[in-house]
Amino acid sequence: MIDGMTSPTRTSNTPMPSDAGDRRQVRPAAEGWEQQRTPEGRPLLQFASPRVKQPPQHLADLTLAERQAKLKELGLPAFRAKQLSTHYFQHWTTDPERMSDLPKAGREELVEAMFPPLLTEVRRLRTDDGNTIKFLWRLFDGALVESVLMRYPGRITLCVSSQAGCGMNCPFCATGQAGLTRNMSTAEIVDQVVAANRVIAAGELGVTEHPDERVTNIVFMGMGEPLANYKRVMAAVHRFVDPAPEGLGMSARNITVSTVGLVPAIRKLADEELPVTFALSLHAPDDELRDELIPVNNRWKVDEAIDAAYDYFRKTGRRVSIEYALIKDMNDHAWRAALLAKKLNQRGRGWVHVNPIPLNPTPGSIWTSSEPEVQDEFVETLRAAGIPTTLRDTRGKEIDGACGQLAAAE
Ligand code: SAH
Repeated sequence: MIDGMTSPTRTSNTPMPSDAGDRRQVRPAAEGWEQQRTPEGRPLLQFASPRVKQPPQHLADLTLAERQAKLKELGLPAFRAKQLSTHYFQHWTTDPERMSDLPKAGREELVEAMFPPLLTEVRRLRTDDGNTIKFLWRLFDGALVESVLMRYPGRITLCVSSQAGCGMNCPFCATGQAGLTRNMSTAEIVDQVVAANRVIAAGELGVTEHPDERVTNIVFMGMGEPLANYKRVMAAVHRFVDPAPEGLGMSARNITVSTVGLVPAIRKLADEELPVTFALSLHAPDDELRDELIPVNNRWKVDEAIDAAYDYFRKTGRRVSIEYALIKDMNDHAWRAALLAKKLNQRGRGWVHVNPIPLNPTPGSIWTSSEPEVQDEFVETLRAAGIPTTLRDTRGKEIDGACGQLAAAE
């Protein structure tokens, strides 16, 4: 389904505190590309994936029970499901040579049936210190997606993609510019993590801290809107948290689902018995600006999105994150920090923290990051109002930082 939006409401009754007049207000606009629009002239929103072929079924698409059923269908004993799962989820291998616990006869055919190759590496970029690696993957149908692997002291984070392209059409995001190609399958999402674990095990990510290292944290902040691919993303989350050998045995709280604010899906997520970390990409506290910055705001307004985030906290007890890319003269005004703090404090205390992140800059464009003193003032305004706030670093700037840039360049 390709979907237009309801009429943008241009009610400009946002309170404008005293510094509003002193600072420039740059308005969002597409530069160097044309934002796809509906026949009525509104930014196009694609909530549903085009009906294109999905990749072949892979072991990671299935629950353990489904794997057992499939093996039975193939005329094999059900316990082979656990053996194959152990190879994939604990040893990160799909190499039949390494599966000596399986009978030699028919082993290759079995592996072919359960582990069709899903990701082909096209490019790999690495920072000088080796602590950040960006992968560009080609999927079976030629679609390109990215993931980014980052070593921090005591943890290793993988930023994964959930869709090829994205239908949310945010004008500052490289991924949105080409629209949505298709949803990724569960196994395509999971295989990014398994591939990263292989790279870590091979000692290729910076300086190894201990021998059993693997991905400890996953953020759905790569390409795509995860909540627009809800079922497959949730199945992938299950593979991440299911105990080995059914899954990777990770902790749900170390998995972050980030969204532009699809309110009904946020509410559904809160009802899952999975305490994942939830992040809302807000980027503006006022509807007037957010309508332009995040086109889906025309469907679900700032207050509805914040209410849904607050209810996520109430249901799960998990503190939620607000993501806020600081864009020079566009959304970085101190009055906006104050308005954001006010809206968050209105709901309660201790339920949220804010992560401002300097926009990945496009020099010479309206899409550039805020000045350092403006960033500091934004952070201080939030903190002074009692909102825990952490300015995020932009990892991997030197390697085409922002997700989607690599795929776009290819
Ligand atoms: N669609 C989801 C997840 C993918 S984007 C979402 O919007 O949350 C992950 C984060 O990167 C979002 O907060 C998004 O707004 C942000 N982002 C996109 N382009 C960026 C850029 N050029 N610089 C900094 N952050 C960006």
